[in-house]
Amino acid sequence: MNRLGKLYFRYGTMGSAKTALLLTTAYNFEERGLSYVCLKPVIDTREGDSVIRSRIGIERACTWIYHDSDLYAMARNMCDSQGTVIEWFLVDEAQFLTAEQVDQLARVVDEFGCNVVCYGLRTDFKSRLFEGSRRLFEIADTIDEIKSTCTCGRKTIVNARIDSHGDFVEEGAQVEIGGDDRYIAVCRKCWRERRISQSRRNVLPFPDL
Ligand SMILES: [Zn+2]
Repeated sequence: MNRLGKLYFRYGTMGSAKTALLLTTAYNFEERGLSYVCLKPVIDTREGDSVIRSRIGIERACTWIYHDSDLYAMARNMCDSQGTVIEWFLVDEAQFLTAEQVDQLARVVDEFGCNVVCYGLRTDFKSRLFEGSRRLFEIADTIDEIKSTCTCGRKTIVNARIDSHGDFVEEGAQVEIGGDDRYIAVCRKCWRERRISQSRRNVLPFPDL
């Protein structure tokens, strides 16, 4: 097969409209008659319906990705059942993919010629790479940053987790089930300065300032 697909990684902080971009892209594919499938890792198993939803009110059905899903096998089955190669796979929350699943997506690109666009966060609330994002940075063909702006005007870098008082939190699991309202995206400078001022108030010790 001679189709040339690409593996894309489009990363940004929380609130950078990644999901809205994915859904806009899906809409454009529909307008142009291109075949596509939306995928999303399941984090909260209480979520009933398999839908990708954005705050601006658009939504599209998606297929769940579980921690042990084989995405190569999934894509092959989807292409077989439709009797054609799916041209585009759009993956939301790609930071939650395992490294192995990113490799499986790369194989979908290389063997079937599909395009796979992964939207996700670069780093967690401790400013460390997620597993899926790390692997995407390592092997994606095309990497784009979806930029958004901190209240100070600089580019947002860190997805800070906040407690009920609005203070930054540095302890806890990388993934915690809960709303997006527990995070704010800030620039690196504001992140550091706010942790220092919190430290001075002895709210929380931050050892690595
Ligand atoms: Zn800032």
